[in-house]
Amino acid sequence: MIEAIAKIGQIERERIKNKTSDDKDPQIVELIQNIYKPTQDDKRKQMLLKIILKQGEYSSYTFDRVELEDLKSDTCYKVLYRSAGGNALNPSPTAQITDKDTFGNKILKFFKEAKSNKEQSDEERKFFENVYNALTESENDIRKSIDEKSKEKGTYLLTITFEEGNSEKYLVDKIEFLDYFLEKVRGKEGRFKGNGVCSICGKSGEVYGGVFPYSFFNLDKEGFLNNFSKGDSYKNFPICKECIRDLETGKRFIEDKLNYTFVKGLRYRLIPQNISGDEKTFEELIDILSEQESEVDTKSLSRITDDENEILERLSKESDTFSLNFLFIEKQNKAEKILAFIQDVLPSRLNRIFEAKRKVDEVTKSIPGYDGKQFTFGYIREFFFKSDSQKSNPDLDKYFLDIVDKIFKDKKIDKVFLFDYLMKGIREEFLKEHSEEKSFYYFKTVDAFIVYLFLKELNIIDVKEVKMEERKFDVFFKRFEGVNDPVKKGLILLGAATETLLEIQEDLRGSKPFLKYLKSLKMTEKDFKELLTKVQAKLEEYDALPRAKDFLEEASYYLLMGGDNFKMSVPEMNFFFTLGMNLKREILKSIKEA
Ligand SMILES: [Zn+2]
Repeated sequence: MIEAIAKIGQIERERIKNKTSDDKDPQIVELIQNIYKPTQDDKRKQMLLKIILKQGEYSSYTFDRVELEDLKSDTCYKVLYRSAGGNALNPSPTAQITDKDTFGNKILKFFKEAKSNKEQSDEERKFFENVYNALTESENDIRKSIDEKSKEKGTYLLTITFEEGNSEKYLVDKIEFLDYFLEKVRGKEGRFKGNGVCSICGKSGEVYGGVFPYSFFNLDKEGFLNNFSKGDSYKNFPICKECIRDLETGKRFIEDKLNYTFVKGLRYRLIPQNISGDEKTFEELIDILSEQESEVDTKSLSRITDDENEILERLSKESDTFSLNFLFIEKQNKAEKILAFIQDVLPSRLNRIFEAKRKVDEVTKSIPGYDGKQFTFGYIREFFFKSDSQKSNPDLDKYFLDIVDKIFKDKKIDKVFLFDYLMKGIREEFLKEHSEEKSFYYFKTVDAFIVYLFLKELNIIDVKEVKMEERKFDVFFKRFEGVNDPVKKGLILLGAATETLLEIQEDLRGSKPFLKYLKSLKMTEKDFKELLTKVQAKLEEYDALPRAKDFLEEASYYLLMGGDNFKMSVPEMNFFFTLGMNLKREILKSIKEA
């Protein structure tokens, strides 16, 4: 995991090295102090004063000239401006000119510090030293030019730029300054060093500990931080300077670009990991991810989460050269708490999930109210959100994420558990319906059915299907997989018959006293068997038996086939019953079509 983050960082740092400052890194924008004032009148100048260095041989630099440039809205970003205040060094060699020897105090001293900073790698120190030498060699010329060019009243921001080949590079374009800036601004606490071999790249030398990108990561790939002594961490999981940079950049990249909403109230970080050793393809993947807003039209993709920028369908079409890790974390103030970590999901698995989703969408779009709706994990979330809708905070995250894990990892979900929660949601709406509150009994039932169909399609709940002779309502039953079992069919048809009776009762009496026999949808096998005769007797009493005769006859036939033990939990039986209540019209329609 740590390696995956470092790898992403390494690729991203390479990209930063090669890119111009056109597209901005929002994390840096956040840390920049922008002093440009667009409305200021022209009398007071706002200028950038650039000490321009030219690249010479052996990565040396020489002073070329000092030049003025108008300050613009993006200038402060380009020169990494952030004032540390007073005499303190800024995190970059950019400073506002004051009468207190800005060049000496803020520029020269910056490089003097940077070139001997022990936190820097040898390479970086060498770079800062080369710049320092170029500045001191021409110190007098530079000072003279600065004074000449900043005579007029105004705001002057002093910085350094580099002429390399035909392009002028600002500080933000140079990875050395970018890294240094971020390190200084963020401050590094708890870094413990010693000598050893880097656990990521394998090089020996100075290594550090306590630098994990997320506070809960542990030493091994599976676990998380447990009684873990930071002081010893460089011995346990030593990381070299370069790899720390990679980790930091990797985390920044993930936080910026791969930070998504999963469902209401839950966010995840998507962390791709190369598993093939094919570097090139993986770099292309990172490119896709880093430019997702512009290159990939996420609006045209179908989704399984609640994020408009979801890119999973795009990734599901790739070959299995990488895997995806889903890190669900919750940020409380500054602390990060892990909710779930779903590892090693292959693109082919994602593809399988999207196939199931498409199939379910196809089957359910003909259900009234569901045309144009699409399955997402939001459907499952509905039933695994709060154990009681009166609760102010969701308390079923763990159950929900456990189901998500099973879907991503192709593991079986316990049917008893599943129907228990599906029915809790349905029952709540059912009770509202009959207490004159606004109710979503119909939608809740169909939503639960969609969850069931999706999990059935993925084959992660045990559903037995029985081949039977052709019967009257088969046109309806054949529309959906997962209901081809005599008991389920019997319960669905009994539900439809009961609904017919309730409607008749409502018409005749303006109320539905028969509801009491439904026992708040906690009916047992025995209750269902008795219900069959009760519904029949009541319909006869109303002289309305013909309106539900087919339902009752077929229900009775199927339930008889179920024998003495339906082998279903109470919630599961009631689930299929409510399905029949709510889809009664669809069932009737199907025999007319047949
Ligand atoms: Zn390393």
